Amino acid sequence: MYRLKKHGYSAFLVGGCIRDLILGKVPKDFDITTNATPDQIQKIFRNCRLVGRRFRLAHILFGKEIIEVATFRGAHNPDEINIADNSRSANISRRSQSGMLLRDNVYGTIEQDAERRDFTLNAFYYSVDDFTIRDYCNGLQDLHNGVIRLIGDPKTRYREDPVRMLRAIRFAAKLNMVIEPQTAAPIRDLAPLLKNIPAARLFDESVKLLQTGYGFATYQLLREYQLFGQLFPLLNPLVNQQLTHTSKNGDFVRHPSHKIEQSHLEKMVELVLENTDTRIASGKRINYAFLFAAFFWYPIRELAQHNAMEGGLPFNDAFSMAIGDILTEQCRVMTIPRRLTTVMSDIWRLQLRMSKRSAKRVFAILEHPKYRAAYDLLEMRATIEKGELVGLAKWWNEFQSASSDHKNVMIKQLPKSNRSRAKH
Ligand code: ATP
Ligand code: MG
Repeated sequence: MYRLKKHGYSAFLVGGCIRDLILGKVPKDFDITTNATPDQIQKIFRNCRLVGRRFRLAHILFGKEIIEVATFRGAHNPDEINIADNSRSANISRRSQSGMLLRDNVYGTIEQDAERRDFTLNAFYYSVDDFTIRDYCNGLQDLHNGVIRLIGDPKTRYREDPVRMLRAIRFAAKLNMVIEPQTAAPIRDLAPLLKNIPAARLFDESVKLLQTGYGFATYQLLREYQLFGQLFPLLNPLVNQQLTHTSKNGDFVRHPSHKIEQSHLEKMVELVLENTDTRIASGKRINYAFLFAAFFWYPIRELAQHNAMEGGLPFNDAFSMAIGDILTEQCRVMTIPRRLTTVMSDIWRLQLRMSKRSAKRVFAILEHPKYRAAYDLLEMRATIEKGELVGLAKWWNEFQSASSDHKNVMIKQLPKSNRSRAKH
């Protein structure tokens, strides 16, 4: 900020970092906004890289830190729909048929920049000229009252960028605030607009929503606003079964097997989110693949059973097919990176391997790099399903910390039928 100032530009700390500082929280990152254009920023910082097409900005590298420096954004004409327009103006501002901003690179004044931000409590500016906070959108009052309020007309703002619906929910859950009624009202109707968001961006958002410490509260709000099904369509039919099948007299009708799966899946989603929040609250590291592995375990198992029965396939083949199909489906909505899907597949396959205990196999299983995560999933399944899985989870829990003598005793004690029994 001082460097920009020295070169005659104005510069402000902006957005979430000021919000968090006022609330006494530690900001995750610091964003800066300035009247210098990206090219001008690049001229005065050697350690600078320009990124983004939709929203062009400068990344300034300070050691390991990246500071995002954006140029003040200006106003758009909301009526302009110029998807077919290849002229120069389309490069700086461009909308799709649904009103989504495909380019947001019109530069403007600080007041206009404030109007372009999402929520009132994200539109604070802090200046080193006078060390004061500027509040152009009455954000302090909303912050004080615990209200998440979109700046401008909510429908237009959601159409411009449907991810703002997810951000409303993320901040409401994280800051324990309420979404102002007019900001909340259009969300259910506009939820399907998330289909237009690139799958890579939705993956990033879903991690921020579910794996940054407030996953359970966020999940409940996502469901309330019918956004969860947009992010995880494969989980939604089971979780929402009772909403779709009603009998003549209005009672819920569910296939018996679905009834089991429905409650299992729902419990699993809740349990893994609670566990993740607890881990983060106690400062433990989390494995991003684990939550997704837990989310999709029951859909995969069900599809595998279906594949095995209908297609007459050996269960292991049916299971591999189910993994492939479910991952392909989910990655249409959000791109789960390969480094995660390989870990997820390992965790799933280990569930099958852990139920087949034989002297030859158990040591290899224990040494598998993803054993610990697989055990954690097994334990959650046992909590949910009870029955035989409780004994199985207990056995692995004892086995993993047993001395090698005791390990051998444990293997010998396995009932004959148990040593190579497959329970899926
Ligand atoms: P956190 O970093 O804690 O997740 P944040 O508010 O800092 O929250 P960022 O994604 O870092 O969120 O964005 C920084 C700022 O940029 C926001 O505070 C907001 O002013 C603005 N902003 C981010 N995303 C959007 C958006 N989709 N539409 C409008 N403004 C946005
Ligand atoms: Mg931020």
